[in-house]
This record gives sequence, C-alpha cells and structure tokens, in this order.
Amino acid sequence: MRNYYIAGNWKMHKTRAEAAALAGELVSGLKDGKHKYLVAPSFTLLETVAPLVKGTNIRLGAQNMAAEEQGAHTGETSVLQLKDLGVQTVILGHSERRHLYKEDDALINKKVKLALQHGLEAILCIGELLEEREAGKAEAVCERQTVKGLEGIPASSLSGIVLAYEPVWAIGTGKTATPEDADAIHACVRNVIAKLYGQAEADKIIIQYGGSVKADNAARLMSKENIDGALVGGAALKAESFVPIAKFG
Ligand code: PEP
Repeated sequence: MRNYYIAGNWKMHKTRAEAAALAGELVSGLKDGKHKYLVAPSFTLLETVAPLVKGTNIRLGAQNMAAEEQGAHTGETSVLQLKDLGVQTVILGHSERRHLYKEDDALINKKVKLALQHGLEAILCIGELLEEREAGKAEAVCERQTVKGLEGIPASSLSGIVLAYEPVWAIGTGKTATPEDADAIHACVRNVIAKLYGQAEADKIIIQYGGSVKADNAARLMSKENIDGALVGGAALKAESFVPIAKFG
C-alpha cells in the first residue's frame, strides 16, 4: 500500500518572515493530515523553516543541490550544507533546472546518486515538453529520463527515490494533464521501474504528479491507480490553497 505524498515547491518566492508565517500555518493546518508532506523553500529560507517543521509531519526539502560534495563551485550548494540545516529531501531534475539551466540526465543522475549516498531522499522529476507530447514522444522521454536518472542505483537504494511526473506544458500554466493522461504516463514509468528493478519495487515506488495541481483537481488526480501524490508549485505558496490539496478527498 503506497501512502500519498504531497510536496510543496516554493520556488524562488518568499522572504524569511513570509516563509516562517507559511510554515507555521502549514504545521497547524496539516497536523491531523494523514499523508506524507514536504515543503521545499529556497536555500536562504531553509534555516528559518527547519526549526518550525522539525518534529512535525512535514519534511524539509531543498529544490536542488550541487553534483559535487564540496570544493570550488561558486554559487552552488552542497549536500553537506543541506544536511547541516536538517534537509531530508532534495528535488532534482525539476523541469526549470533541465530547461532553463540546461541540466542534463547525466548531471541529474550524479546528483541523485550523491543525495542517496548521504541519506537524503531524492525526488527525481521527469516530464515531456509540449512539442514532445505533440510528436507522440511523451512516454519515450519519460522512460529515458527515468532510466538515465536512476543509472547505477541499486534496488537496495530505491526506497530513497520518489518520482515526480511533471509535464512541462502543465507547470505554472493552469493546464493540467487529464487524470487519465497522467495515469497513463505514471503506469508507463512504473513499468520502466518493473523492468529495471522487478515488480515488487515498481509496486512500492511513489510517483507524484505535478502541473497546476489545485484543490479542485487534486482528488480526481489522486483517485487514479498510479498517481501517489503531488508536487505542487503555485498553489503551495499559500496555506489556504495547499492545505486542501494536502488533505484532498
Ligand atoms: C512545480 O513547480 O513543480 C509545479 C508543478 O508548479 P505548478 O503547480 O505551479 O504548476
């Protein structure tokens, strides 16, 4: 039985005071929530949010990290620095990292392996561009990103991996994949995991959906067999929009 996992990606939003206020509202709004929860604030906000979510049912996540442990990498943030702040999870391969900052599958795979090596949970994001979907390549793109993102990761480490299917054309656009279309890709990705690691691992892995998830579409998406949660952007910036998604149903 897979537990639903609802994550909020705050992206490059909020000051420390705003982040503290939102974290406080989420802690009280979700204290009786039944699912697994995560917030991923900007690096500069992690130290503020960490003590507020510590010991609650909300995990602390980062939105990215460097592919190297430490060294001369100006502007990057190390896994060691994230762990020092109490970060438990890191989002990797988000479409904004892939497309705006040109991160490729090999770099993302290096980051995933480093995160796991240091005991962080990794949310590996995958998803096709609009032109790839229109060309009938959505499944192939998601398969490639999954296979390459997980290259060299043994089955024994797979419990530290969460997948997030985020069709790029649905992120921040107000367009959501239909629950049926999303579920079809999730099923395909689960099948990829089955081929790589066996059916038992495929049955266990959590696959979140992301792309304009809102309170009014969350329950329909989550009702699908292969959709195990959500990675939420815009609607994660206010407790009044995130809490109803997190407590969907
Ligand atoms: C995201 O940033 O991962 C995302 C899905 O954003 P939004 O919910 O705003 O589409």
